[in-house]
Amino acid sequence: MSGRDVLIKSGYLATGDRDLGDLHGTDILVRDGLIAEIGVGLAAPDALEVDARRRLVLPGFVDTHRHLWLGAISASVAVDSLAAYSRAVMGPFAGRYRPEDVYAGVLWGALLALNAGVTTVADWAHNLPSSEHTAANVEALQHSGVGAVFLHGGSIADAYRAREQWPDLRMGVALRGPYFSTPEETRSDFARARELALPISVHAGVAGYPGAVHQLAESDLLGPDVNFAHGSEFSTDELGMVAATGGTLSVSPTVDMSMALGTYPALGSALERGVAVGLAADTIASAGTDLFSEMRLALAAERSRGTCAGEPTTLGHRDVLQVATHGGAAVWGLGEQTGTLTPGKTADIIMVDMRAPHLDGFGDPVLAVLLNAGPSDVETVLAAGLIVKASGRLVGGTHVETARALLKDSRERLRQS
Ligand SMILES: [Zn+2]
Repeated sequence: MSGRDVLIKSGYLATGDRDLGDLHGTDILVRDGLIAEIGVGLAAPDALEVDARRRLVLPGFVDTHRHLWLGAISASVAVDSLAAYSRAVMGPFAGRYRPEDVYAGVLWGALLALNAGVTTVADWAHNLPSSEHTAANVEALQHSGVGAVFLHGGSIADAYRAREQWPDLRMGVALRGPYFSTPEETRSDFARARELALPISVHAGVAGYPGAVHQLAESDLLGPDVNFAHGSEFSTDELGMVAATGGTLSVSPTVDMSMALGTYPALGSALERGVAVGLAADTIASAGTDLFSEMRLALAAERSRGTCAGEPTTLGHRDVLQVATHGGAAVWGLGEQTGTLTPGKTADIIMVDMRAPHLDGFGDPVLAVLLNAGPSDVETVLAAGLIVKASGRLVGGTHVETARALLKDSRERLRQS
């Protein structure tokens, strides 16, 4: 499904592409789901024209670690620890989810992402007790229109089934990792995931659970196919080992700090060592749905960390934007496909309406957005060339209304049971 050609006219493009940089009054032609052309005064008589004057045009954001099934209970709790989170969310809710609740939650979670300009999500799907739940999760991702990396977090046997059923699905395996399984189980899980040649993601580097990277190293399990979520409590040694073995990192500033998972997000220290690092909302039950907030928090935290350590950071606003876009794409091996506005890449594009009073700043529009924008400022979203948000609202009429109705039913049942 590629939809109609789209011609975005006369925008301020912060392409994120090293060669192209920022382009004023420039057009983007979208064809067959791809960025076909970027230039001034482009013409495409059959294309749908979108006026981008006084809009900042950016690559869609990439969330490298998010639990979409929590869409049904988004913004339900604001807890201050992992233990409290388990008591408030995982304990009472996870076991109640039927496949239709997973479908409703993932679909809504994906629409929340798109609404906030997140066009690619690594969905850490760890509420898959049966193959029916897995099918519901996959179908919701496919129906939502979001660019997804499906991280299967059910049994390994079910991951094998899923791989067979959806051989073309962009997929990885979400494993319990050393914190939640024995060394033998971890070795077996990693070995079986690697037989499928799928990337692996684990939660690691959080307060109270030290030494995950060392444990993996002792079993010779580190490698470029291992993604770590959080990492704020990684020791210098551990970060060095992740860097040396080509592992990647997903930091979630809101969750990392407000749930006391560590001192500061590991963004700066990971970047310094050359680790591919991206941003993540993680649990949308206890954090927002957008990466604007995560970028702001990431930068503030990094500057605070640098000041406390007596080593002020050189990280700036453009750097965290890069992390939220191309950096995140690189974490999941998608750097050639998305994350910048570059001809030939997938047309994952967002437009921010700069006419809003809080965005009508004095200088660089990118800075105004990074300081002030939120999901409702994202006026237009194209995911793989399809317009999924226009005039500030999700489009697709019946599709969105169906998602809302399923969500309502699911919430009523989850509240009652
Ligand atoms: Zn997580």
